Amino acid sequence: MILKQIGALNIFLEKPRNIVIVGHRNPDGDAMGSTLAMYHYLLKKGHQPTVVVPNEYPQFLHWLPGSENVYRFDKQNKQSKRAINNSELIFLLDFNALHRVGTDMQKMLEEYPNDFIMIDHHQQPDEVAKYMYSDSSICSASQMVYHFLEMMDDVALVDKNIATCLYTGIMTDTGSFRFKSTTSTTHKIIADLIEKGAENDRIHNNVYDANSYDRLLLLGQSLSNLQIKPKFKTAFITLTDEEKKRFNFKKGDTEGVVNYALSLKNIIFAAIFIEDKEQNIIKISFRSKGSFSVNQFARNNFEGGGHDNAAGGKSDLSMEETINKFINLLPKYQEELKVSYEK
Ligand code: 5GP
Ligand code: MN
Repeated sequence: MILKQIGALNIFLEKPRNIVIVGHRNPDGDAMGSTLAMYHYLLKKGHQPTVVVPNEYPQFLHWLPGSENVYRFDKQNKQSKRAINNSELIFLLDFNALHRVGTDMQKMLEEYPNDFIMIDHHQQPDEVAKYMYSDSSICSASQMVYHFLEMMDDVALVDKNIATCLYTGIMTDTGSFRFKSTTSTTHKIIADLIEKGAENDRIHNNVYDANSYDRLLLLGQSLSNLQIKPKFKTAFITLTDEEKKRFNFKKGDTEGVVNYALSLKNIIFAAIFIEDKEQNIIKISFRSKGSFSVNQFARNNFEGGGHDNAAGGKSDLSMEETINKFINLLPKYQEELKVSYEK
């Protein structure tokens, strides 16, 4: 664990350093919250930090302080490469394996000559980092960044910007403080972040009440595509490329939609299948309640992974074939699904 190496890291960070902070592909609230919080912290410590993310992130996160300085590897490729080449240390936040940044950026990171520090809450992390802080029991990478600041003895440096970014990451990864990973420690940290300037009502408003009319119509379409398999306590949603186009799909528009399937009474396993014609895949999100591990399900069947109750994966088959594959898998898990979340 990092505690053992924190001394070495502290010594390394005594001098001002060029540092890059990386989030995963398709960055979510926790990826942006943790990377931007780290950015503000390192700036305050006198370093030159740069946040580099592989691709676009949802509009409802663009208000985050520091967002205007984030490089997208796909769009600001030259600047991103220059920042990485000039850096003396790279933070990997909210992901557990280099392939999670996408092929182009992965190649560059694999050839990186200096050290990585990984702070992440996903299971089974790859061993790529010299400095490693991994704990899959913690709700979010953003909470881990707070613990990292505790380890650095720097919680006193948390200001409004840092507090706002961390609050956003914790809020989004806990489904607004409702998932099981939300502990009393999480709430104590949240209380401290509010004291340090995080405006909770504004943050919720900026993230959750920023829908476009098209996004609501896309949600309507998603809900009318919902199918239920009561025997397996399973519900799933499909969304084709044509449907996405019809409602002017933008990155982030389908975020959270899978939770509507999980909100059905007696449903403990939910999935959403989203066609991506550009990448020629079906991108899948899985959610569960109780002991049924969607991390295992995604790993074993759909080249993915994540957490026990929230994971993702993909399929190279057509939508119809993917759905058939999914439905045909359910009987194998019937017993597990039955006992997963008994009242
Ligand atoms: P989401 O369904 O919101 O995209 O992702 C849920 C969780 O699963 C997140 O923690 C995310 O990092 C992880 N995840 C999503 N897609 C993949 C994937 O293709 N592979 C792996 N290993 N994890 C994923
Ligand atoms: Mn996360």
